[in-house]
Amino acid sequence: MEMPAARPRDHLFDVDPSTGLLARARQLPSPNCDDRPPGAVPELIVVHGISLPPGEFGGPWIDLLFTNALPRAAHPYFATIEALRVSSHVLVRRDGELVQYVPFHRRAWHAGVSSWRGRERCNDFSIGIELEGADDVPYSDAQYASLSGLAASLASAYPGLAPDAIAGHSDVAPGRKTDPGSVFDWPRLRRLLAMHVAAREERT
Ligand SMILES: [Zn+2]
Repeated sequence: MEMPAARPRDHLFDVDPSTGLLARARQLPSPNCDDRPPGAVPELIVVHGISLPPGEFGGPWIDLLFTNALPRAAHPYFATIEALRVSSHVLVRRDGELVQYVPFHRRAWHAGVSSWRGRERCNDFSIGIELEGADDVPYSDAQYASLSGLAASLASAYPGLAPDAIAGHSDVAPGRKTDPGSVFDWPRLRRLLAMHVAAREERT
């Protein structure tokens, strides 16, 4: 029997538009979300970088931050951020694992004061994706693979979201935010994303 040609694993990232959930992500609901404004739909993906404590990978700390359960005693840095009420829709861990905190049709609290193409309050109309990382540490191959597959699936699930509507947190909050950092390889993401989009179009 002939094997099908290798193709991106974007079936891993299928989105159910009725629930706003990713089929195969680990689900960990965050209370830090609310409704989007009336009529607002996803039109932008904002890419972030996060590590807790800063520069350290692994551990439960990002999950705990997004669920308001970060223990201030565990690290001096945690006391400085324990009052934050933040979330993202999805976290991509170093090994490519996806964790979803907020359904895509709801508003996650990730971008803060921000603007994109002249529109303010990016949380209203964006999907926030955190990459576990730091501004000066290259992101992993698995993260580029997961992020590109996820972005292609989201563009297919949400018609308002153009495949090229992706910006960094530093792009929508310049001067205030630096993530995902200068090491983030935008041409690589756009190349992978174009492959995923083409593969999806071929199958439909
Ligand atoms: Zn950010």
